[in-house]
Amino acid sequence: MSNEQQRQGVVGIVGAGLVGALNAIYFAQRGWKVELYELRPDMRLPVHRESRRGRSINLALSERGLSALRCTGLGLEDIILKASVPMKARMVHIGKQCTQMSQQYSVNGEHINAVDRARLNELLLDAAEKMENVTVHFEHRLTQADIETNKLEFVVADGTTKSYYTDLIIGADGAYSKLRSQMMRRMRMDYDQEYIDTGYCELSMPPATGPDGTPTFALDPNHLHIWPRHTFMLIALPNPDFSFTCTLFMPFKMFDEIKTEDQLMHFFRENFIDSISLIGEESLKHDFFNNPRGSLVTVKASPHHYQDKALIIGDAAHAMVPFYGQGMNCGFQDVEVLHEILDRHNVHPVFVDNKIRGLKEALDDYSETRVKDAHAICDLAMYNHYEMRSAVTSMRYLARRKLEGIIHSWFPRLIIPLYTMVSFTTIPYSQAIDRWHRQTHWLNVAMFSTAVVTASVMTTVGFKYRDQFLPTLRSAVDTVKHLF
Ligand code: FAD
Repeated sequence: MSNEQQRQGVVGIVGAGLVGALNAIYFAQRGWKVELYELRPDMRLPVHRESRRGRSINLALSERGLSALRCTGLGLEDIILKASVPMKARMVHIGKQCTQMSQQYSVNGEHINAVDRARLNELLLDAAEKMENVTVHFEHRLTQADIETNKLEFVVADGTTKSYYTDLIIGADGAYSKLRSQMMRRMRMDYDQEYIDTGYCELSMPPATGPDGTPTFALDPNHLHIWPRHTFMLIALPNPDFSFTCTLFMPFKMFDEIKTEDQLMHFFRENFIDSISLIGEESLKHDFFNNPRGSLVTVKASPHHYQDKALIIGDAAHAMVPFYGQGMNCGFQDVEVLHEILDRHNVHPVFVDNKIRGLKEALDDYSETRVKDAHAICDLAMYNHYEMRSAVTSMRYLARRKLEGIIHSWFPRLIIPLYTMVSFTTIPYSQAIDRWHRQTHWLNVAMFSTAVVTASVMTTVGFKYRDQFLPTLRSAVDTVKHLF
């Protein structure tokens, strides 16, 4: 064997966020030499930890994400679950009085988990760095990539440029991926980007003080709280330190219209009255006027790879609006699916005749498998934007959910609610949605048939007993007339 044939494969992963860090662990476990490049400084340094103090940003972690953490075999799932808060239901704060209504996520008691984004990222970085074949390069901003020659160029902390060569390049550099834009210069990649006119602003709800003076949650912690107001909404997720992170989603135009503290307080009194004392007036004003307004974008790309040279993953391949709580979960599932496919194609990081055998076929297979699932969850997340802002309080939606839940508990295989399929299983997204469409068709047929049968029975019975029924109806009409 020549030296070339014995060379170990090097994968360069751009972006050490949630998906990039997890992917580094998986590649290292397969025996690749992993170079992980991140534009930010190391978030675990005390100075950066300190700057985040008291400001948690949390995410809902569900089965797809948990499954990918579990498959590392490093106990990551348990560690992160210990530091999370389970949320078994939505708590909808309805109307001006903010009356609370709990809506269970699952008839089987399954729950999603509120996790601290920074803590999760740190944990993944720790686990990646413990592996001897992983090197993390912080303060490396990708500026150019030549995917034909496998060359990556970065601007580093002191402003100079550094170049690296890696055999496989992976872009896990988020929704505004530089690697994706560099790939698009070389290949025919379909690309679709759509902003919605809703933006978001994060607000902190501090711990309350319990009767014995110890800190406690200001709201029921085992719920994801939602204040749906049709064109805008407020949500709140619990943190293990007894605080909640609230996110106000609202059209940018409405954000711009609130210019003064009085206008802000008036807006909150009209719409989220119960949250004011819990967030605290001063903190509310501070966060609203000082925290950044984020924009929400959907990104769809196809394919996700170029030959056996480059691949995009996570938000770089499929950013979605956050209303199904699936962006990170989907990105983690990308990693699990990618490595299952590499296994299936028997891909090992060893060069034979200047090639890694099976890699191109595996990446072809990956795009073939994953693009349709990524597009499906991007569309579903957009649909849930409407559901969370409005539908959760409609009678039709609640009746349909109830019916689905009842049938699911009697016949768990026949009808599976969409939320259950997305959040509590790893069924590919596109299959879950196809199945949901079929279920919806049959549920509509069943509901329509039930309505027709009920109406027929009532008409028949009414006709048969019309002599008794008509005088009662006439007297009821007379009573109503008298009232006016
Ligand atoms: P990112 O987290 O964006 O990480 C990309 C990394 O690449 C970053 O570290 C960045 O610094 C680095 N980088 C970028 N450019 C370069 C460059 N040129 N060179 C080097 N490095 C670079 N998902 C859920 O599953 N559940 C939720 O509840 C949820 N809630 C959300 C709420 C909000 C308001 C938002 C906006 C998103 C939410 N998401 C949620 C989505 C989730 O945050 C993303 O899907 C997830 O962070 C994607 O991870 P990623 O690693 O692909 O990208």
